[in-house]
Amino acid sequence: MKHAFDTPERKAFRETIEAFVAKEIAPHAFEWDEAGQVPWELHSKIAALGVFGFGIDQEYGGLGFDDPFMRVDYAVAMSMCGAGGVSAALGGRSIAIDPIQKLASDNIKARCLKDIVEGRKGAGLGITEPSGGSDVARLKTTAKRDGGEWVLNGSKTFITGGMEADYFVIAARTGPPGLMGISLFFVEKDAPGFTRTPLPKKMGWWASNQATLFFDDCRIPAENLMGQQDYGFIQVMNNFNYERLGLSACALGMMKVCLEDSIEWAQQRETFGKPLIKHQIIRHKIAEMSARIDVVESYLQNICWRIDQGKIPVAEICKSKFFATKALEFCASEAMQILGGAGYLRGSRVENVYREVKVIAIGGGSEEIMRDLAVRQMGL
Ligand SMILES: Cc1cc2nc3c(=O)[nH]c(=O)nc-3n(C[C@H](O)[C@H](O)[C@H](O)COP(=O)(O)OP(=O)(O)OC[C@H]3O[C@@H](n4cnc5c(N)ncnc54)[C@H](O)[C@@H]3O)c2cc1C
Repeated sequence: MKHAFDTPERKAFRETIEAFVAKEIAPHAFEWDEAGQVPWELHSKIAALGVFGFGIDQEYGGLGFDDPFMRVDYAVAMSMCGAGGVSAALGGRSIAIDPIQKLASDNIKARCLKDIVEGRKGAGLGITEPSGGSDVARLKTTAKRDGGEWVLNGSKTFITGGMEADYFVIAARTGPPGLMGISLFFVEKDAPGFTRTPLPKKMGWWASNQATLFFDDCRIPAENLMGQQDYGFIQVMNNFNYERLGLSACALGMMKVCLEDSIEWAQQRETFGKPLIKHQIIRHKIAEMSARIDVVESYLQNICWRIDQGKIPVAEICKSKFFATKALEFCASEAMQILGGAGYLRGSRVENVYREVKVIAIGGGSEEIMRDLAVRQMGL
């Protein structure tokens, strides 16, 4: 589809990322995914293109401006490498960067932010706990003030990049039950009382590690409280919007993979004396996939335009996330049918996408929670 809101800068950025993915990532994506990690140098290489610098001041290695269209283009292009785990391994830090820039002390930012944005160090955001991720209001990890320190107790799980990250933004309860009463803390990997273990084998996203983090009387300096005490959830809410927009864009990239690979295969493969693409049922599958891609892409462009106008279209972002994941589920299933047995083999982008549908549907706010939030935004 035509990019209705393109500017020369957006076009140049998109083409740069696409070229980088085609040359530096796609040829190795499956190998890295199977190996369970990407080479660490790749973090700095891709960071040099500015992909972690949206909305970040230049003194911290950022771009000094934000652009939702570029954020979306980046996520789409990365997802098209065919292994979402590679994209998550590199981009996992993004959800921690924004809160650090907005809420951490100048001292912490001066010491750490540039290294994160420029890809030398990793960072993770810890919200989800073993007792649940959807109901953030009931999180159980606590932080208590003790003289010049905060003392954290509890645990977090599913934390992306958690085994490699040097820095974490951790949500912990400092006040009464409920959404108010949660604060954010900057925790470094060598804080006393902090340990971590890797998650067991996962269905997908292999190149990206997820960790369970443990805080046993974990002591951090008082200045590591980020932003205002008890207002952590309110302060981090806009971060969830960008995370969800990014995941919708990942779904779009994965859908494009399904369509591209289906068309290529259907043109080559012959059944019953003619190319697969000439069978009406297959043509209709292609039409359906293509239509859903167009709808998701147009919706995301409209959302980006609103964000660019200074709005935060929360309901639309939530709706885009569950709509895009449902559309992705459809495309992954249809693409797998079109490829037949070939789609079931490792090394096929469609096989990878098929296994990674659910992480998009669950991570960063599940479909059910997105629907609920969208309806609440409608005042119902
Ligand atoms: C690969 C991966 C990476 C992740 N990375 C991170 C990360 O970096 N940081 C982080 O903090 N978290 C991360 N998560 C966690 C993710 O955000 C949670 O998995 C998600 O929010 C859902 O939480 P849960 O798994 O605990 O499910 P639960 O909250 O236990 O819910 C289970 C199911 O019930 C549904 N449900 C819950 N409440 C309701 C309701 N009221 N009505 C109807 N249905 C409901 C949910 O939608 C879900 O389908 C990651 C998850 C995965 C799989």
